[in-house]
Amino acid sequence: MDNAIEDVYRSLSGRFKGTLLRSADAGYGEATRIWNGMFSRRPGLFAFCREVSDVQAAVRAAAASGVLTAVRCGGHSLAGFSTCDQGLVIDLSAMREVRVDPEARRAHFSGGCLLANLDTATQKAGLAFPAGVVSHTGAAGLVLGGGTGWLNRLHGLSCDNVEGFTLVVADGSMVRANVKENPELFWALRGGGGNFGVVTEFEGRLHPVSSVILGRGLCPGDDIAPLLSQWREFMPEAPDNLRWGFSLRIADESRNTPPALRGLPVASVSALWVGDIGQGRRYVHHALTAAHQAAVSVEEMSFLRLQTMADSDFPHGRRYYTKSGYFRILGDQAIQTMIEALATVPSRASEIELAYLGGAAQRVAPGDTAFGDRSAPFVLNIISNWADPAEDAANIAWTRNLFAQLRPAMVPGVYVNFMSGDEEDRVPEAYRERWERLRSIKTTYDPRNVFRLNQNIPPHSVPL
Ligand SMILES: Cc1cc2nc3c(=O)[nH]c(=O)nc-3n(C[C@H](O)[C@H](O)[C@H](O)COP(=O)(O)OP(=O)(O)OC[C@H]3O[C@@H](n4cnc5c(N)ncnc54)[C@H](O)[C@@H]3O)c2cc1C
Repeated sequence: MDNAIEDVYRSLSGRFKGTLLRSADAGYGEATRIWNGMFSRRPGLFAFCREVSDVQAAVRAAAASGVLTAVRCGGHSLAGFSTCDQGLVIDLSAMREVRVDPEARRAHFSGGCLLANLDTATQKAGLAFPAGVVSHTGAAGLVLGGGTGWLNRLHGLSCDNVEGFTLVVADGSMVRANVKENPELFWALRGGGGNFGVVTEFEGRLHPVSSVILGRGLCPGDDIAPLLSQWREFMPEAPDNLRWGFSLRIADESRNTPPALRGLPVASVSALWVGDIGQGRRYVHHALTAAHQAAVSVEEMSFLRLQTMADSDFPHGRRYYTKSGYFRILGDQAIQTMIEALATVPSRASEIELAYLGGAAQRVAPGDTAFGDRSAPFVLNIISNWADPAEDAANIAWTRNLFAQLRPAMVPGVYVNFMSGDEEDRVPEAYRERWERLRSIKTTYDPRNVFRLNQNIPPHSVPL
């Protein structure tokens, strides 16, 4: 340990109620692992906080020492921001309390909660908080960046459903942010990521959701282009209850894949309906008309089952690299480029995800939250996923190359939670006309950029 991190350790030991972990301690190796296996780093100290006073102590010690500091909730940062070499990791995984008020349809949840914690607690009351699609994702990182998922079109982004934050800011003090208290900070926290402090509690608005109907299917290669053009025409007028999207990939060799499709390019189709099931069946079947009939399933299921269905598709420890952006118009050439790219994809686990935002998420005005402009509805997310470090260069090059080909057809903008760690230059693009306002708020709450392991919004004191 170098001197600075040694100072942090000394200043915390004795009064810290959670656990402090250094490299020689049992459990250190396990603690170094985050979801994205691309990032194998060795922090000098882990501070596993048990209560808010621990978070305050850790933030004060970090600020006083100047050590590089990561904040970790679920550890799912695609960019690897939840770890660092030699510095401090403030880990909130021991703070996973969820309190639900069914009458008021509100939940208070702690800054270390996973989506699984939130869903399990809220569904006991038949309610749901709109969030992501993989239950082992951390709620804090997801909500602070924006938060997209199955319920967005019906109820908005996660950040649109937060009514208040309690956080520890860079000087160690506790601050509340809501429509009445610190409204500028409240605005910034809805999309601005982990830039402004460590959120210890969120207050979220809940919505009644019980069962849903999900249709899935595989559409063979030659039918992908007509299907996507049908989709792009249909979605602008589709009911908010429908979330219809695609993953373009190479079909796997599993038993569930019809033999005629195995190893070939396909569009994996998903169509979710939330609401009246009778009405929804018609839409779900419509979305699956182009799918190979042996690969179609339509199921009514609980919301909890829906929320865990994709968990095994994104296992911990594999290597992931992403590029993301928006199209206002999804043109034929862009569709063709994506389909052709499947012919050279180095890993069969990689995918090109296409979603249509729209609905309630799009009706929030661009200036209402830091998340910003939602007017370009087609969301592209290229997710490369492989196991062998020797294949890093090929997978990263494929992702970058495809993105470079598509970029001229895209509009400026990117969702910060889908960015990789080498895209610092795109952070101003993510916020555009909100950038200077965010920098001012950052300067107020974190003038020395203590919270810089994120898609960083530098305070005015830090030159660009
Ligand atoms: C498998 C998988 C599925 C995903 N699915 C979706 C999805 O459906 N929808 C979607 O919108 N996104 C999705 N994402 C992206 C996800 O939103 C981001 O990766 C997000 O950062 C994860 O949050 P986390 O808390 O797990 O991450 P962490 O790595 O723990 O933290 C990520 C960032 O958030 C900050 N942070 C974490 N906790 C706090 C806190 N308490 N206070 C302040 N800052 C904090 C950290 O400093 C860091 O910068 C997915 C990611 C993965 C890996």
